[in-house]
Amino acid sequence: MISNEQKTSTMKRATILDGARVANDIKKEVAAAVTALWDEQGLKPCLAAVRVGDDPASEVYVRNKIKACEEVGIYSEHHALPATTSQTELLELIASLNARPDVHGVLIQMPLPKRIDESAVLEAVDPAKDVDGFHPLNVGKLAMGHPNFVPCTPAGIMELLKRNHVEIRGADACVIGRSQIVGRPMAQLLIQNDATVTVCHSRTRDLAAVARRADILVVAIGRAAMVGADYIKPGATVIDVGMNRVTDEATARELFGEDAERRITIIRKHGYTLVGDVHPAEADRVAGQRTPVPGGVGLLTVAMLLANTVKAASRD
Ligand code: NAP
Repeated sequence: MISNEQKTSTMKRATILDGARVANDIKKEVAAAVTALWDEQGLKPCLAAVRVGDDPASEVYVRNKIKACEEVGIYSEHHALPATTSQTELLELIASLNARPDVHGVLIQMPLPKRIDESAVLEAVDPAKDVDGFHPLNVGKLAMGHPNFVPCTPAGIMELLKRNHVEIRGADACVIGRSQIVGRPMAQLLIQNDATVTVCHSRTRDLAAVARRADILVVAIGRAAMVGADYIKPGATVIDVGMNRVTDEATARELFGEDAERRITIIRKHGYTLVGDVHPAEADRVAGQRTPVPGGVGLLTVAMLLANTVKAASRD
């Protein structure tokens, strides 16, 4: 649904915030830091990625992270454990990675099999190697305003905002979603950068009206294209964290506006195309700028994992 006020801005199209460009810039900086560590200290950063079971999405995520490590000269190890792995066996592997001086970053790919206690596993990672920023010590440091390792997705979003000169100080920011990996740390980072932050979730009353007050709207809910024009203040910066599959051509036609034909071609070829939690065609009519899906936040998440790994190695 589009209000009259929003209809007046239907002629323009939101500027696209190019996650690929910022991610590539970050990767170049990381590659330079990797070279400097080698030249100055003979040290090569190493990331150990641990995965349990055969969730296909997790397999793809870990593969992408390993590939990104290779691109910037970071060593990586992929520990793919069978679904039958016990919690004790997993904790033993983490303890051995913690103890190895040649491993600087340890990441545990989520989700883990249900019978494994995720909190116990995340707490077992050495906080100094916690490149995902999920250990309670790092979560606490962020909450206290002294961040050490910051979760990669919100850290990447901050880089995107800053490098595109989006004014954060004094801005009204709204974060929809309160997960540990995106919503909460995102809100903390925005507060630390002097935004006035509202955090929304599934129990928020009149969500659209709350969101519509925001100069910066970050959406991380996992609901395909839920956030339409009536959630967006005209001219706002909209950051779309969601990644959802669209398999249906009619839906693609409704969601993607001018980009629909290209997306339908992708569906015919691959069986699906990706959409975020924000309705792209509606956001284009109202927002000042927005991140695309794909090509936005996802690429930044991986780039920040590399940056965190170099940071972990640099502390040795
Ligand atoms: P999550 O843990 O499932 O959390 C979802 C949050 O959204 C919860 O706080 C939930 O509220 C809220 N929510 C759900 N439905 C809602 C509704 N109808 N109205 C308002 N709030 C609602 O999800 P997440 O891990 O943060 O991920 C969110 C999305 O981002 C997913 O699509 C995920 O795939 C994507 N993601 C992308 C990246 C990337 O690199 N691009 C990284 C991480 C996640 P309650 O707390 O009240 O339940």
